[in-house]
Amino acid sequence: MTETLIENGQYNIGHICTGLQCARGLAGRTALRWLPSHGPKRDYTFGDLDLESGRFANVLASLGLVSGDIFFTFLPKMPEQFIAVLGALKARVVCGTLFTNFGEEALLDRLADSGAKAILTRRVFLPKLARIRARLPALKYVLAVDGGAAEGALDLAALMAAAPAEFKVPVTPRNTPSLLHYTSGSTGRPKGVLHCHGSVEGQAATAREILGLKPDDIYWCTADQGWVTGTSYGIIGPWSLGVTQVHYGGGYSAPRWAEILAAEKITVWYSAPTAFRMLMREDPVLFSDIKTSPLRHIFSVGEPLNPEVIAWARRAMGRDIHDTWFQTETGAIMISNRPGLEIRPGSMGKPVPDVTAAVLGKDGRELPPGTHGSLCLRPGWPGMFTAYLNNEAAYKDKFVNGWYHTSDTARKDADGYFWFDGRSDDVINTAGHLISPFEVESALLELPEVAESGVIGAPDELLFEKVVAFVHLHQGFTPSPELELKLRLHVSNKASTIATPQAIVFCEGLPKNKSGKIMRRVLKARYTGAAAGDLSTMEEEA
Ligand code: AMP
Repeated sequence: MTETLIENGQYNIGHICTGLQCARGLAGRTALRWLPSHGPKRDYTFGDLDLESGRFANVLASLGLVSGDIFFTFLPKMPEQFIAVLGALKARVVCGTLFTNFGEEALLDRLADSGAKAILTRRVFLPKLARIRARLPALKYVLAVDGGAAEGALDLAALMAAAPAEFKVPVTPRNTPSLLHYTSGSTGRPKGVLHCHGSVEGQAATAREILGLKPDDIYWCTADQGWVTGTSYGIIGPWSLGVTQVHYGGGYSAPRWAEILAAEKITVWYSAPTAFRMLMREDPVLFSDIKTSPLRHIFSVGEPLNPEVIAWARRAMGRDIHDTWFQTETGAIMISNRPGLEIRPGSMGKPVPDVTAAVLGKDGRELPPGTHGSLCLRPGWPGMFTAYLNNEAAYKDKFVNGWYHTSDTARKDADGYFWFDGRSDDVINTAGHLISPFEVESALLELPEVAESGVIGAPDELLFEKVVAFVHLHQGFTPSPELELKLRLHVSNKASTIATPQAIVFCEGLPKNKSGKIMRRVLKARYTGAAAGDLSTMEEEA
């Protein structure tokens, strides 16, 4: 299947997901069934997507954007999001997708680092962009999907109306940059993970072999397009196989989700553990229709999938949930408890075809079964990222002695199943979103009351981890509920709502090592009541 996707060296993802499908006789098949949060649903065929994305590619070209320039969407799930991503890819413009919960600093970091030339958003977000625009000299164009001319934005509808639908997609070699997703580290600013058009081979192969997508499937992926799952498996994988996707514009709602699964006759559903844990709290009657629905497979990604969740799905829906593991950098699923493999609840499953995974010790050697160590992959899988934008050193650091280091820790059992342990860095995973403690600490430090802050992830039953901030106030300031609220709002405005601390602990001073670095592990131990581990070595940690 993957061989036949590529004709005459054409790896262009925008073309493969639209024009190629039309050329294969699918122009009239529904590509996108759009379910807005309010109002009637609307179908877009592959033919519609081909024309609209062609039009958008012409819009970018008319603005002077050329191959390799960087463009971002800052949109919720909506048809324009899909059209813009596919159109930019057709024009070989590198496309980044920004999560709409991002605050000003989060936006500024990403737009400034990438030197983005244009961004497509909604009017409601224009004031946020206006506040940082002066610090973005490269940003030439702000486009809005819903007008915005009065606020100085270009009106997308007017530009689209003036643009021809026909766009000749240039032949796009495998290594041509395609998508850009920023990922959080535990130190420093987020890194821009750059993918290439050739990644479509990995996404198509895993969509077919792991998600098991077949031509007549009706597929629903709940991930937002701001994250890698939303592009790899909410755009590229399914459409490269000509599969119909349902996308819902509303947020989490148990009754609405249950209704979508049943009414739209979803056959393959991809979601995340936090959502499943929320659904588990609902009346099981909600899901009784699903037992007799055509739903064939359920998949999960982003956080550890608890065995209790798998047991619940079996009881409530009569279905298994198959875990999948991957990360922004891998671009495609690497490990999975996939259909056809006996599920070991609590494990992530086994590496997918063409992927070699191993658990390595500190000496870089593979560890015996059952031993905890670094989860590593042999580089070269289809879909692998090609760079951290403007940060070659960080990219090189990820590859040691022929292994890519994922920054996750895991163990492998004697039968080759991988079991997730945690992160080897301080990155926080809250509801499947990676949060940089550094970004939250930096936001808190902007406030005049805050002398120091240390941010950690603490275990949480629903979210997997929650953001907890330890805050040391300057002299003369005292903790109060009002101050807590101020700190929370500030993080929400500057970083994002998901980074907002769930708990704030006011304290006198923070534990630091000799070089002055805040020891988050000690804070975590303090919060959870666990042992902090060997502090003598931590004193030396850089
Ligand atoms: P991101 O790069 O934002 O997609 O986040 C990737 C990280 O999420 C991984 O490195 C893991 O730490 C975590 N993750 C993703 N999938 C799983 C999974 N199935 N089980 C446990 N952790 C996961």
